[in-house]
Amino acid sequence: MSGNEARLKATAAVVNYKPLAPQMSFFETPTAELFNANVFDAATMKKRLPKSVYKSLMRTIQKGEQLDSGVADVVAVAMKDWAIEKGATHYAHVFFPLTGLTAEKHDSFLSPNGDGKALAEFTGEQLIQGEPDGSSFPTGGIRPTFEARGYTAWDVTSPAYIMENPNGTTLCIPTAFVSWTGEALDKKTPLLRSQQALNKHAKRVLKLFGEEVDVISSTAGAEQEYFLVDQNFFYARPDLMTAGRTLFGAPPAKGQQFDDHYFGAIPERVLGFMLEAERELFKLGVPVKTRHNEVAPGQYEIAPIYENGNVATDHQQLMMVTLKRVAEKYGMTVILHEKPFAGVNGSGKHLNFSLGGPGVGNLLDPGDNPHDNVRFLVFCAAVIRAVDLYAPLLRAAVASASNDHRLGANEAPPAIMSIFLGEQLTDVFEQIRTLGDAKTSKDRGILNLGVDVLPPLPMHSGDRNRTSPVAFTGNKFEFRAVGSGQSIAGPLMVWNTILAESLDYIATALESADTDFSTAVKTLLREIINEHGRIIFNGDGYSEAWHREAEFERGLPNLRTAADALPVFGTPEVIDLFSKYGVLSERETLSRRDVKLEQYVMAIDVEARLMVKIGRTMIYPTAMRYVTELANAVAAVKAAGMDGDSAELEMVLGLATDLRAAIEALSAALEHDHGDADLLAEAQYACGTLRPLMGAVRRATDSLEALVADDMWPLPNYQEMLYIK
Ligand code: ADP
Ligand code: MG
Repeated sequence: MSGNEARLKATAAVVNYKPLAPQMSFFETPTAELFNANVFDAATMKKRLPKSVYKSLMRTIQKGEQLDSGVADVVAVAMKDWAIEKGATHYAHVFFPLTGLTAEKHDSFLSPNGDGKALAEFTGEQLIQGEPDGSSFPTGGIRPTFEARGYTAWDVTSPAYIMENPNGTTLCIPTAFVSWTGEALDKKTPLLRSQQALNKHAKRVLKLFGEEVDVISSTAGAEQEYFLVDQNFFYARPDLMTAGRTLFGAPPAKGQQFDDHYFGAIPERVLGFMLEAERELFKLGVPVKTRHNEVAPGQYEIAPIYENGNVATDHQQLMMVTLKRVAEKYGMTVILHEKPFAGVNGSGKHLNFSLGGPGVGNLLDPGDNPHDNVRFLVFCAAVIRAVDLYAPLLRAAVASASNDHRLGANEAPPAIMSIFLGEQLTDVFEQIRTLGDAKTSKDRGILNLGVDVLPPLPMHSGDRNRTSPVAFTGNKFEFRAVGSGQSIAGPLMVWNTILAESLDYIATALESADTDFSTAVKTLLREIINEHGRIIFNGDGYSEAWHREAEFERGLPNLRTAADALPVFGTPEVIDLFSKYGVLSERETLSRRDVKLEQYVMAIDVEARLMVKIGRTMIYPTAMRYVTELANAVAAVKAAGMDGDSAELEMVLGLATDLRAAIEALSAALEHDHGDADLLAEAQYACGTLRPLMGAVRRATDSLEALVADDMWPLPNYQEMLYIK
């Protein structure tokens, strides 16, 4: 038997792939007409609900007023009728546990009516509250398994929708998930609490500017990067399947050095998948907008138009689920891991965010003359102060075993948090710092292309900077350290909270100032830029020089790994911050740290065990077969009376021996008894001991891959997975 049978079959399957027949529905109903088709949106509610109920709901959704649970029965009936007209048989409370994934519990609308028939029923109580058995979700010690009770609570601010399946549809209701003591077991509850805190303190600041508004909320738009791999390759790679990334793989001869994939023409099958995924997302009200090839071969990006932070977060989860589901129809697997292929660019999820509300618009829009836009400068200063004060928390919010492979790998922002402001704003804040006041804004300029038929292009106020973890991009900040597979709920919750804290600080200072408002603002801006200006850095974040400058001259923290960063959730400053703003209690904060540490430890443990298994059962046997073949060849040459060269044989045997030793060492390390050690010690062990041992197994394997006869190699290689489409 040849060792590469799986590879040959997979390659043949990809080459012989037949595109799906065109779907007539695409031409009958243009995608544009489908937006929100499966959403219980404002228009649908207006049509189907009594006016007073509709108005009451809108006050909660748009102004954040308390939900009148008296309306639930009426809403439930309308929702059920609408869903059943759309083919629904079940409803599901959808929630977002601490795993970062999406969970749903389905219940039938039907219940027996006593006459041997079944009746479709859905009450306000069923809409408002669910009770999934929560014992199988991580809680970080909040709730022992004998107290398994958990509740889901309807989040009226995120619209319900219909999930389609060829065999029927399900009404999905976004919910918060809490323990029976009311503690948050999910990512939505703290996110909503943080929105509330942000709202409160942003409004205080606006009031000082004479602006009274109903509600301010964060806005978010997340650009999602992902890889597509043909399923045939995917299933021939146990590591990709189980760990979400390749644990082995020699670099391909052609990587991404030609820069020929980025923004390149999208292959037909991939485009077909994208069109269908976007159509599905459109039906669900997810406003997808942009698609393109990313930097690495096989890598793509999809981005929506921004929305209210809470809705954007739910929609982001839907996006990940939908991409995965639709890709399967096209014979491909979506890989959301941050670093599926070593040596090839990883995937991130740029979280664009701002804050604003009806009446005031986007509060981070500088306009044409930022030096004159005091309100903007105040909100921008709040961001600068927040990032400087809470850099370690921001780092911790994106910490995971998988994101560790990407941050700081010279393709994604480093683990050092800093802000890119661009030339124009940096200059404005520099004037404030040195002169106490900003008098001018540098011109954005017009780009003349030197060709009469081409239009002159207005320039942005700053060039792009891909190396910065937090970049100001025109009228929003872009947090680029989020991992592609992560929920944006955690990072957004952190942003909301640290901004709320800064705005609270600013409002308090200005409210109690003993000078006129204009002088007080100037004094405060100057103080903030003096104290926190060190966080602004417009240069190359990848460079060694920056790492030195950040550490030695600016004193900025550099938490390299998740094991370094996650303990931040247990520090008094962070515990105080979250509890002061009503986002997380001490126990809730610590539970998040523990769940994240646990996931970190488990992720590395699973990878290490997989390495041992694949190394022992696939790689080592392959290497020894090749050794046998080489040994036979050398013997045959000698027997024929010629001078045999056994250098190759010695090399392969040497590597096989190294591999075996590395596997044994890793395997032994996995048996380590942690005794009473806490989670942090286990995480440090995983990071400091297991990871280097895994590195040794990989090095030996990848060297073997470059030597062993290709027809024996059992795992699809990087070339095949990334280029055969
Ligand atoms: P860029 O070219 O700077 O990446 P894009 O216009 O492509 O900017 O936007 C990237 C993402 O940022 C999109 O998802 C977009 O909707 C989002 N975005 C734009 N404005 C805002 C805003 N005010 N708040 C949050 N996200 C925003
Ligand atoms: Mg962008």
